[in-house]
Amino acid sequence: MKKTGIVRDKKYMEHWMGEYHPESPTRLEAIYAMLDEPDMAGNFVNLPARPADKKDVMLVHASQYVERIESTAGVEYTYLDPDTQTCAASYDAAMLAAGGLCQAIGAVYSGELHNAFALVRPPGHHAEKFQAKGFCLFNNVAVGARWAQKNFGISRILIVDWDLHHGNGTQHCFEEDPSVLYFSTHQYPYYPGSGAFDEVGRGKGRGFTVNVPLTIGHGDGEYVTIYQELLRPIATEYKPELILVSAGFDIYYGDPLGGMNVTPQGFAGLTRMMMDIAERCCGGKVVLTLEGGYNILGERDSVKEVLRELAGLSVTNPSDMTALANPEMTGSLLERVKSVQSKYWKDL
Ligand SMILES: [Zn+2]
Repeated sequence: MKKTGIVRDKKYMEHWMGEYHPESPTRLEAIYAMLDEPDMAGNFVNLPARPADKKDVMLVHASQYVERIESTAGVEYTYLDPDTQTCAASYDAAMLAAGGLCQAIGAVYSGELHNAFALVRPPGHHAEKFQAKGFCLFNNVAVGARWAQKNFGISRILIVDWDLHHGNGTQHCFEEDPSVLYFSTHQYPYYPGSGAFDEVGRGKGRGFTVNVPLTIGHGDGEYVTIYQELLRPIATEYKPELILVSAGFDIYYGDPLGGMNVTPQGFAGLTRMMMDIAERCCGGKVVLTLEGGYNILGERDSVKEVLRELAGLSVTNPSDMTALANPEMTGSLLERVKSVQSKYWKDL
């Protein structure tokens, strides 16, 4: 069986934004309890989380911003954004979230593990260079990518973002940089407002941002088809040396914030597709990091299927799911993305 790493730490649950906030510690409580059930325990390598180095976080965020978040440490409540607040423990949790993902990336890239999933919070993909946003303090996946480039000299990293929301912070971080390809599917128009078809990157980064904005109602068949028809050829041509996934579970069919219809089995299919692409391009090196997901039990069940797939405890065939796709939903969408992106990707 392939060795799959997980990052888990009780300190991630100390970050708390108030009783009614959907991005709650309960999310990880449910996931961690599932990991200890008899059918899951013992199947994964626990990676110790370490806080990120401040200088690594500053590869993505402005120093004044990092210091601003640091100044919230030990302070009971700080307002940062209409959706984002901190408590006394939030800074430490956020440093540990970015650092935990770096640990996972290091273990996978060095070959110690086959793949890994950083089960961390706060999430990261909305955090901007100068600004906390949308439940996010530091952009974990962006810090992880920059850290990997710095430590291993990687010249091509693919970031796939299947969270319900567009990862504005991640896109902005890399939009002028061809060494990181950002591919996102997201509900649109919706929070945070970015992620239109024609946002394709800027300057030298033109063509290295791929946005697939979606109306509500996309389910397993549509998602797998979109990734198969768009991500697979682009990734095969790009040949990443490492794949990172902003894994959000707010595309789950029962999510209170989202309008998508993905089931736990659909997440397994998406995971298998990432693994297949990684196998073809980079020896299977794929690392996931937790973003959103606000139906506690749905997220738990979906994370379980993702982990089972990563560890080879189940082997889903995503091609079987494409037959479920509604061509009226995917047909014109695929054409539209291809018409924008085919100037940059000859295999589309
Ligand atoms: Zn989200």
